[in-house]
Amino acid sequence: MLLSGTVVADSATVIDNGAVVVDGTTIEAVGEREALVDQYPDHERREYDIIAPGMVGSHIHSVQSLGRGIADDTELLDWLFDHILPMEGSMSAEEMRTAATLGYLELVESGTTTCIDHLSVSHADQAFEAAGEVGIRALMGKVLMDKESPEALQEDTDDALAESERLIQQYHGAFGDRVRYAVTPRFAVTCSEACLRGARQLADEYDGVRIHTHASENLGEIAAVEKDTGMRNVHWLDEVGLTGEDVVLAHCVHTDASEREVLAETGTHVTHCPSSNMKLASGIAPVLDYLDRGINVALGNDGPPCNNTLDPFTEMRQASLLQKVDELNPTALPAATAFEMSTINGAKAAGFENLGELKPGWKADIVGLRTDTSRATPVHDALSHLVFATHGDDVAFTMVDGEVLLDDGDVVGVDAESVRAQAQEYADQYS
Ligand SMILES: [Zn+2]
Repeated sequence: MLLSGTVVADSATVIDNGAVVVDGTTIEAVGEREALVDQYPDHERREYDIIAPGMVGSHIHSVQSLGRGIADDTELLDWLFDHILPMEGSMSAEEMRTAATLGYLELVESGTTTCIDHLSVSHADQAFEAAGEVGIRALMGKVLMDKESPEALQEDTDDALAESERLIQQYHGAFGDRVRYAVTPRFAVTCSEACLRGARQLADEYDGVRIHTHASENLGEIAAVEKDTGMRNVHWLDEVGLTGEDVVLAHCVHTDASEREVLAETGTHVTHCPSSNMKLASGIAPVLDYLDRGINVALGNDGPPCNNTLDPFTEMRQASLLQKVDELNPTALPAATAFEMSTINGAKAAGFENLGELKPGWKADIVGLRTDTSRATPVHDALSHLVFATHGDDVAFTMVDGEVLLDDGDVVGVDAESVRAQAQEYADQYS
């Protein structure tokens, strides 16, 4: 296939009248449209206004999709223990399947081609199958909770780790290696030391399996961890093995200088979730300091109940604006940096090779956008447009591994309308 338009190949490369040629699962060529049309005259052609790498949502909770809007304007730990965990604990396998499918559809429809997905304690198979059905690329894992958790979610430590291992054996590398496994403790508050150490051990036993958890999102959370362990949260995670180049920590809003040193020295990845941090009033993550220290910072929407959208373009905008206002500096976190966080940095965090930029030989995960609306007129600078003016609804085309998942705005291979109808029916009980 030959995709043409203004090609934003990476944060530093924009080709007006450009094109991207896809062959199989990878990108064959990127360059000027005219030359590539001459070189590949028989390729099927698609034309969009902007062609870009697919976005990487590096912290998502697809299975919370039925809870969009159920707990607005609520403090984080109350939000979690009074609303979200009870919902997760009561969901059936069918509800999990529908919620995960809805989440992946929203992602694909709005331009996210890869996600790092934090599932729930039970029915994780449903989300893996849903990811396979929709075709999204995902690093994902069943949640571990073996301490101070609601009864419906509380697990025996060995059972939780054994179930994780079963899922690794079944799904790590599944669906043409689009789906990979991350061992996923909920957070240090609801996981015992044995559970956290067991997560590290399990990840070490399987090539390419990573670790994903929440860390230092909220002051109440870090106080609880300090009370239990006598240590700051990141030091505790480091102590039990949950730092390193295969670890992705969501949030990291409240860290001191010594914790940031640990993150940098160990090569731990951080996912910034600006909308969620603002909505739950968690605070402002020190993103600029992390980037200065060489820490890889990706971007995530977090879950539908704390955002309440999985739009990756809104998230780039929020990330940039939040740092500008925090620093009282309009040059802070410019469009190019936000774009890198949402593409190449996310790909590095998720651990997929040759992903996050449009380059020959790299994975064909590509989005096409329309700009034929008043809001999108004029486009002076395509990169700025993607970060500050684009909405997910502008995405008309989404491709993962060379396979078209969204074609002229329509999801391919899944009956999106019936998924939405089923989701609304299931969700009514949680309102
Ligand atoms: Zn989260």
